[in-house]
Amino acid sequence: MLNRQGRPTTPSHDTTVVHKTFTGNKALQQIEPLIFEIGSTDQTGVDIDAPAPHHKKLGKFERKSPIGLPGLSEPETMRHYVRLSQKNYGIDTGLFPLGSCTMKHNPRLNEKMARLPGFSDVHPLQPQATVQGALELMDTLAHWLVTLTGMDAVAMSPKAGAHGELCGLMAIKAAIIARGEEATRKVVLVPDSAHGTNPATAALIHFEVRSVPVREDGTVDPHVVASLAGPDTAAIMLTNPNTCGLFEKDVVAIAEAIHKAGGYFYADGANFNAIVGKARPGDLGVDAMHINLHKTFSTPHGGGGPGSGPVVLSERLAPFAPVPFIRKTDEGLQLVEDEAEATNHGAHPFGRMTAFHGQMGMYVRALSYMLSHGADGMKQASEDAVLNANYVRACLADLMSLPFGNKPCMHEVLFDDTWLKDTGVSTLDFAKAMIDEGYHPMTMYFPLVVHGAMLIEPTESESRASLDLFIATLRDLAIAAKRGDTERFTGAPYHAPLRRLDETRAARSPVLKWTPPQPILEAAE
Ligand SMILES: *Cc1c(COP(=O)(O)O)cnc(C)c1O
Repeated sequence: MLNRQGRPTTPSHDTTVVHKTFTGNKALQQIEPLIFEIGSTDQTGVDIDAPAPHHKKLGKFERKSPIGLPGLSEPETMRHYVRLSQKNYGIDTGLFPLGSCTMKHNPRLNEKMARLPGFSDVHPLQPQATVQGALELMDTLAHWLVTLTGMDAVAMSPKAGAHGELCGLMAIKAAIIARGEEATRKVVLVPDSAHGTNPATAALIHFEVRSVPVREDGTVDPHVVASLAGPDTAAIMLTNPNTCGLFEKDVVAIAEAIHKAGGYFYADGANFNAIVGKARPGDLGVDAMHINLHKTFSTPHGGGGPGSGPVVLSERLAPFAPVPFIRKTDEGLQLVEDEAEATNHGAHPFGRMTAFHGQMGMYVRALSYMLSHGADGMKQASEDAVLNANYVRACLADLMSLPFGNKPCMHEVLFDDTWLKDTGVSTLDFAKAMIDEGYHPMTMYFPLVVHGAMLIEPTESESRASLDLFIATLRDLAIAAKRGDTERFTGAPYHAPLRRLDETRAARSPVLKWTPPQPILEAAE
């Protein structure tokens, strides 16, 4: 094809051949070494005179050797960091279908609000009288979290979902101690489909984890829970909708079975985004639930932060919430920081989770999201998230296998690898081929209850056009896998800067510190 200037618009050679370049770069995708490897310690990009002799005050703390920072010019420094930033695949570059993690668009309005200096510049040690606005924002957000969940109180400070789980279970432990039953109530029931953080959290504070098998249809059977629950039961940790993307339809009966045995119902609220405005956990019998503000209420996440996991609590657990908490007084809002002081206000906090009060920037984003959507908008977001997941399910069900049958799902759709049987392609290969197509893969091999899981969560923020392209891509890949085009998968990704990495080794033995390479010894003449 030639354009109007007579220049070709399509390459004239077979594009499947990957040519090696002199630089190692792939067109505009540039190789980026570590800054220590490109900069050198004996030069600097800063042109200032050496300081005049002065009296040194550091005494024995004075540095004796050079600090060893790499010196680069300003443009070199700029390019280094901009190139690194371009290596990040994020929700702002493309569809991010990770199930369970809820990668949804974060409206820029939220960012604008979070950067208002009155919020972004507050210091946690400022006198409380000078941060009344920030406290009011925290209190307003707390009000909406309690209202949307139908619960009694909320502990705002936990800094992630898993941290919230710890907070909720510590409140449960405190309640059990207050009942004098700590010697007997030691078991936490956790369904097979649970997120790994659930059993890890329970084990961390010395509960004994007992797993609850899920039934054929992917949900938890209340009769099984009733048979496992007894005087030794501290709690059950249940996710609803669960990590198979299914609503636990017997959740009320499960709550009753646990309460009858004298235990507490901890709900993992990471999937709250599927039911906001539709169902209130408080009405389902929940005693404690963390809310991932970074999943349900839009704050961007991934790459390790930031997170925020407020925990809503029932009337029975509210008194045990950790400090700090906000109290209304005649002089304004007061942050109760001290455990002894908290007891004066009728509370029995189990302690404190964080040094300060939580993630201010995330509180601002979450409240901005809530207020700009309104109650009707948040309800619609949940409905659209569910609709989008079901659209993906319906459009792929003829090619890919659904472990629990072709039935409606909630906000995420779970496929297994039955459909890949005898193709020579695994879930991992399929995911790597998605990278070549410009998509971040879906969640793989989780939940563990199905073989070769592929968990897709499109979220409400994807348009019909974007979903159609994603679906067409997966259909093309699925047909190629079934047709026997194995090479497209087993060697994938072909187009990524790096191919298949040893992720397990990277996680188990990470290299976190750069050490200068040993100088190469001159060969003897
Ligand atoms: C994300 C998630 C968690 C943990 O939340 P973090 O903020 O990553 O600690 C727990 N349970 C489920 C179901 C999740 O999806």
